[in-house]
Amino acid sequence: MATQKISCQHCDAPLKYSSGEIVVTCPYCGYTVVIDVGKPFTLEHSLLPSNFDEKKAINIVKSWMNSSFIAPTGMALRAKFTDVHLYLLPFWIIPLTATSKYRGLFERMGPRIEKKETINKRYNWVIFTQRKTEFPTREFDIPLEGRMPYDFRKIPEGAKVLNSEIGENEAIEIAKQQIKNDHQFLAKQEVDKIIEIETEFKIDDAYYLHAPVWIMRYKYKGKNYQVFLDGCRGEVIKGDIPTDSGFF
Ligand SMILES: [Zn+2]
Repeated sequence: MATQKISCQHCDAPLKYSSGEIVVTCPYCGYTVVIDVGKPFTLEHSLLPSNFDEKKAINIVKSWMNSSFIAPTGMALRAKFTDVHLYLLPFWIIPLTATSKYRGLFERMGPRIEKKETINKRYNWVIFTQRKTEFPTREFDIPLEGRMPYDFRKIPEGAKVLNSEIGENEAIEIAKQQIKNDHQFLAKQEVDKIIEIETEFKIDDAYYLHAPVWIMRYKYKGKNYQVFLDGCRGEVIKGDIPTDSGFF
């Protein structure tokens, strides 16, 4: 990925970014700019606080291993952490209400009948903004209530602040599509065949947010595993864990 360089319009420090990145945050002053229009970022930019250091992060993951029902007994002692990094990952948060009206056929019991239903839900829809990195967004119960205005001084030393590759409008389009799919799935629980479904959205102000996430790799019996840990609340978002059958 080619690296490009501009000067921060606020503090004049060199601002490096990769091609494809759209919303870029200065590591020295926190100034955030939308690259393709060269204008300062005018939307709300929030931050979730990072609440513990590397040692504590590893201990949390070890107790998670110890409390797992499927993990081999005593694995926390033998797991070797090879790669432990704190990232400030960029997300778009889109508060919205989605209403789906649908008509469908219900035929799983008795005679076929036509049903008309409405699904109405309120969301803070979360879009992860990196295309090349895998992140289990749907498993991340992001603790939005703890957010504060973005402040680079609150970012621990050594943490890597990533930039967004997705603009606000694209994030909204992705959110709409994902919600449509979800509602379709929900409708299919109620009817056997959907005749028509229409979803309407009421979208409130989206905001940009950096959330601390520890991404760790550990080795156990020669194999590598990955864990995502919420750096704000200290919960494992998703983690691979070995399952010993005991027979081999
Ligand atoms: Zn700056």
